[in-house]
Amino acid sequence: ESKKPDSARSELAMKYFQAEYGHFINGEWVGGSSSEKIAMINPANLEVLSYIQSGNAEDVNRAVEAATQAFPKWSRSTPSERQAALYEMARRLRARANDYAAMLSLDNGKPIMEALHIDIPATIGQFELFAGAAFGLHGQTIDATQGVAIIHREPLGVVAQIIPWNVPLVMMATKIAPALAAGNTIVLKPAESVCLAVMEFIREMADLLPPGVLNVITGYGPNVGEALVTHPNVRKVAFTGSRPTAQKLMQYASVNVIPQTLELGGKSANIICADADMDAAAESAAMSIVVNKGEICFAATRHFVHESVMDAFVEKVQNILRKIRVGDPMIPSTQMGPQASRMQFDKVLGYLDIGRNEGATTAMGGKRATVSGFEQGYFIEPTLFTDVRNKMRIAQEEIFGPVGVVIPWKDEAQVIREANDTEFGLAAGLWTKNITQAHRMAREIEAGTVWVNRYFNTIPNVPFGGYKQSGFGREFSLDVLSHYTQLKSVIVSLQEGPI
Ligand code: NAD
Repeated sequence: ESKKPDSARSELAMKYFQAEYGHFINGEWVGGSSSEKIAMINPANLEVLSYIQSGNAEDVNRAVEAATQAFPKWSRSTPSERQAALYEMARRLRARANDYAAMLSLDNGKPIMEALHIDIPATIGQFELFAGAAFGLHGQTIDATQGVAIIHREPLGVVAQIIPWNVPLVMMATKIAPALAAGNTIVLKPAESVCLAVMEFIREMADLLPPGVLNVITGYGPNVGEALVTHPNVRKVAFTGSRPTAQKLMQYASVNVIPQTLELGGKSANIICADADMDAAAESAAMSIVVNKGEICFAATRHFVHESVMDAFVEKVQNILRKIRVGDPMIPSTQMGPQASRMQFDKVLGYLDIGRNEGATTAMGGKRATVSGFEQGYFIEPTLFTDVRNKMRIAQEEIFGPVGVVIPWKDEAQVIREANDTEFGLAAGLWTKNITQAHRMAREIEAGTVWVNRYFNTIPNVPFGGYKQSGFGREFSLDVLSHYTQLKSVIVSLQEGPI
């Protein structure tokens, strides 16, 4: 279904991308041990942007070996060396923010202005946070009558990091910045469908780290993932992606009993009370459908609206969605681009059918969007379903597309029960002016993050992660450093002679 680049747009793409990327091992770009390549497709027009290697166990072994060799020296590098590298990454990202935004837009399909104002600052935030943290990492002492204990905080060694395609640079930063700050070495596996901004970042930043500290292997998950996570030198796996993959990783990680952090999916509830600021709540709900075309793990997807304000809320969301400009993501005025891949596109269209068959009403959208000049692209209309019950599949399963469902509620206990009636627990929203009610409800909600009166309010140093099947471990905060270090207690006796 892909074709060779033949338009002015492709010239632009070629300005940013190499025709082909190798693996990045021990500070060098190297060919894969297999000749198989994976094409990166622009989801707006299906042109080939570039090719990456389809890695295998042999490539993984080379990368882990390089990371193993680099670890002793990097683990003893000074905080200022690590800080300097991380700050410089932030500085170079900021200096080329427009270029990186264009890269994200070309291969993921997200609107270029969204990439510029959401993805790039969030990525920079992680590098700056952990640059600062490099100096804060230290142990402690405990004085006891039997002796003095010195608690050293040490890096783990080689860590495996596996990331998805929806916000590639942010995901890369949340993984590599804390691991580097703590003195670990890394083998990173980006998503096979969208990773060009990541590859360009690695290319631009290569001179900032000693060879072998950060290695990148591209390829299909199962081919690379199992070899990586079961390698005897790998000391930890950090993963963001889907639950089925996480379940496999838990099995792989059991081979050498290594720790994991897992950031998985969501089906986040957004509870709108009768006294809520209805304009802000509606705007926020619409943005959860539109931002990154709904391909955001923590997007609010189940909108529980108090029955007394249901009609007003739905009408406001409809009015916002009606005006959303769906189109070429490289045009600055575009608000919503195509789904990132054919797989996602088909999956979302499938859920639109499921919703209709389950008896939901399509209050907005509900089908493929046609964009002139981009007839092949994976565009879908922003979609809102009403007449939804929480038990329906469209309210329980993660669609990962521009689709919101609206569910009415009457009393607080009932809405909390329904909001929690999901296998996921990543995030939630609450809209009320009643501060007592807000605190009371926030405590009852089973989710790693609860936003009150503003959704998408992520802050670089505030922990983010899941309850229940949305995963475990936290990112986006200094707490992450505990996932990339281990404690060694050296206990020196104060008594001499036999016990
Ligand atoms: P996925 O699990 O299919 O892929 C994620 C990564 O895992 C990719 O790099 C892929 O190549 C790799 N992978 C696949 N199979 C593997 C295997 N057997 N061994 C090792 N690695 C393997 O997920 P996806 O569909 O690409 O991403 C979407 C999912 O990610 C959604 O469920 C979404 O909610 C979740 N997500 C979560 C967060 C978060 O922070 N919680 C953020 C973004 C996305």
